[in-house]
Amino acid sequence: MSVILVDDEAKQIIHENFRYQRVSKNGKNYRCCNRSCKAGGKLDNAVFQRNANIHANHSEMSKIKIEKLTKINDLKKQIETNHKINISANYVQCYAELATKYPGEVWKPYKNIKSTLYYHSNKTKPAAPTITDDIVINDTYKNLFDKKFLQFDNHNNNNRIMIFISYVGFNILFGSKRWHFDGTFKASPNLFKQIQTIHGIYYNQMLPAAYILLQNKEKETYVEAFTSLKQILLKKKPRGSNVRFRIGFNACYKNSFRPSQDIWMLVPF
Ligand SMILES: [Zn+2]
Repeated sequence: MSVILVDDEAKQIIHENFRYQRVSKNGKNYRCCNRSCKAGGKLDNAVFQRNANIHANHSEMSKIKIEKLTKINDLKKQIETNHKINISANYVQCYAELATKYPGEVWKPYKNIKSTLYYHSNKTKPAAPTITDDIVINDTYKNLFDKKFLQFDNHNNNNRIMIFISYVGFNILFGSKRWHFDGTFKASPNLFKQIQTIHGIYYNQMLPAAYILLQNKEKETYVEAFTSLKQILLKKKPRGSNVRFRIGFNACYKNSFRPSQDIWMLVPF
């Protein structure tokens, strides 16, 4: 009979309807999960060799229990590999499938398993960076709803610039006649000095559409960021669209430099 791995690292396995746990880290020996039971065995190349001890004073796992366990483990794996899935909805779906198959079976309510499921989600999330070099945006976070979200990253760890615009953000920008810029220092994430946001007036509402993370307020930084932004927008503008962009900067004052409130306009030809 084949061995069912309860987890990816085979810390626990199920063999002939009994559940075993590994005796030592990375070892091959297993013992029954029932502490008072002496039954055990050795797992070698996916083959489980039982020892001579019988399972004493406890019964084997029911088919339902095994199925519940494997289903929940599948869900945990999904949660670990895909941070965008709706955890509660997926749990409810699992529940519905089993409830249909085994009517009357008791199932843990979501609130009782929520923290376990979130533990699995957080386990594979990248750690918060402590220095700029640590900022590595993996594929999960580069995209939003399967569409590119991180549009620009200069990978310069002395002056990192990142631009995020979602698919919806582009629609807002290209659907508005005027864009407004805003810079906030308070809400900027660790290691960044500010977030520049670009808002579009879309269906009479001012909506944020693009986010630029900057590490300082130097003129060169703004020029690099907005030049990159312009390139992205020109590349993305809808076919046949008659828009062009005008960049203007307010005068420098002292050593700091700020883009003016309405520095860019969509100007029809
Ligand atoms: Zn046992």
